[in-house]
Amino acid sequence: MNIVLGIFLLSGLAFGQDLDFHRRESSLAFAKEFGVSGGEILIEENSQDCLRTGYQRSSGKIIFCSGSRVINGGRSSVDVIHHEFFHALFCGVNPELCADPENDYLQEALADAFAFRLTPDEFFGENFYTDQPYIRKYQTDWLPELVQSEHEKGSAVAAKFIRSGKPLSTFLPLFGKPMPSFVSVSVLGAPYSKLNRYRLKKNQTVSFNFQFDPSVKVKTISWQTPPGVEIVTNGLSSSIRLTEVFQGDKSFVSFKTDDGKEVGRWTFYFGREI
Ligand SMILES: [Zn+2]
Repeated sequence: MNIVLGIFLLSGLAFGQDLDFHRRESSLAFAKEFGVSGGEILIEENSQDCLRTGYQRSSGKIIFCSGSRVINGGRSSVDVIHHEFFHALFCGVNPELCADPENDYLQEALADAFAFRLTPDEFFGENFYTDQPYIRKYQTDWLPELVQSEHEKGSAVAAKFIRSGKPLSTFLPLFGKPMPSFVSVSVLGAPYSKLNRYRLKKNQTVSFNFQFDPSVKVKTISWQTPPGVEIVTNGLSSSIRLTEVFQGDKSFVSFKTDDGKEVGRWTFYFGREI
């Protein structure tokens, strides 16, 4: 290690929020991953009217935003700094890929994998929230084709990128290709809703039958539901009935392989029809 790098590292450790150090470190890492220099990292630290810490596409700036649950506006979390700096570096040189909402999950996955490369450990986003130790885990067994939200797809894809050990530029050709879904559901007894929201009458029974792509080897499903939702599961089918006391909340169905590994999950909302 040369002396200059040593001083950079020391100052980074001592203050934990030396944004210039992280800017330089992130720019070097980006050039290594992609073989080109990234865009400029512009920072706004004391924005008056901001909603949340993050990269703002409209202005191209990283905003550090004080929130009641956020430590130091996010400046104490090295992973978050690296993740947000990645967006600026990436969007500066790939404006079209950056702007495409269809590919949001891919950009999020690259940003997480980038943060992992710079600080490899189990958790993403330590020292960000006051009331939880980290934001998420890097590793997950989820398959991106078996989860629903962009956020969950992003996590699943990031885990794949990290496991591959390949330069992040390898994954650029994935942009612009729609992701297949490896699971579908047929519903009996209630109309299907795209948002997975169902309004049911008291004691009405609805059956869900899941079908999986054979490549994923899902063997069982299991539900987590709030009180008031009765579930009877048989193989990959479940019947669902609401009781009188039900107030309405999220239900999850987990997709598991033979060895009990959760490889995906879907969210449903069941509510009483009044
Ligand atoms: Zn992001």
